[in-house]
Amino acid sequence: MRIDVLTLFPEMFDGVFGASILGKARDKGIVSLNAVNFREYANNKHNTVDDYPYGGGGGMVLKAEPVFSAVEDLLRADGQLDEQPDRTAAAKAPRIILMCPQGQPFTQRKAEELAAEDRLIFICGHYEGYDERIREHLVTDELSIGDYVLTGGELPAMVMIDSVVRLLPGVLGNESSAVTDSYSTGLLEYPHYTRPASFRGMEVPEVLLSGHHSRIDQWRREQSMLRTLQRRPDLLDDAPLTDKERKWVRDQLMELKRKEAEQLSRKAIPGRGI
Ligand code: SAM
Repeated sequence: MRIDVLTLFPEMFDGVFGASILGKARDKGIVSLNAVNFREYANNKHNTVDDYPYGGGGGMVLKAEPVFSAVEDLLRADGQLDEQPDRTAAAKAPRIILMCPQGQPFTQRKAEELAAEDRLIFICGHYEGYDERIREHLVTDELSIGDYVLTGGELPAMVMIDSVVRLLPGVLGNESSAVTDSYSTGLLEYPHYTRPASFRGMEVPEVLLSGHHSRIDQWRREQSMLRTLQRRPDLLDDAPLTDKERKWVRDQLMELKRKEAEQLSRKAIPGRGI
């Protein structure tokens, strides 16, 4: 896979692209990661890439031209664009992803979808925002990492690139570790423990020490469902559960509600509160 990031701060990517899983994926030749400073595509003597907003108001706006030119240069280098100013059908092939707090929420499903592509281009906005024509006529996707506003698109791009690259075959040492990750399975992942078995009086669940693989698998599956029920019940609607598992989850829910009601009634009786 090849990934290019259009940014005004390419130096922000030096550490991230060279370290940990991303660095290893790059060293193994599984991904090529490239930060492009689109200031180099500014067509004025001061290299400015922003301008005042039409209609007035505070903040500066990223100009369309340097961003279009930088993307077209990448597409041309790929042989995706002939000498036309507009993008051709062939040029639409790479996903061109705008970092945008107003975009579609980025999820594990989206990471999986992007991991199936050969080529991704990320565009990092800055300032008050970017010229709307970038959104309307250049990009294929607008993605947000959450309902909050950051100074620029660099951190969101890093987040997305990391979550995509770790899904590429051969990147993680143990391929199954991404498969059982939270959200990949439709559920949250089960709890983990490592040695020692007893730490300051806190014990590892007995089943994990039993060596009994089918019991361990069963425990992990149940913990996964329980965790999802307690922390993200919204995920359960679409989770791939068998009828038996759905019934198990319903029983757990009843049990949780029963315990909650018991606690409330204890609080209500003076002298028996906790
Ligand atoms: N004025 C814009 C608005 O209210 O939608 C926010 C602009 S923000 C200061 C500058 C840039 O940071 C955005 O254009 C985008 O590229 C990036 N950005 C900020 N928050 C983001 C988020 N939650 N997800 C993705 N990108 C974000």
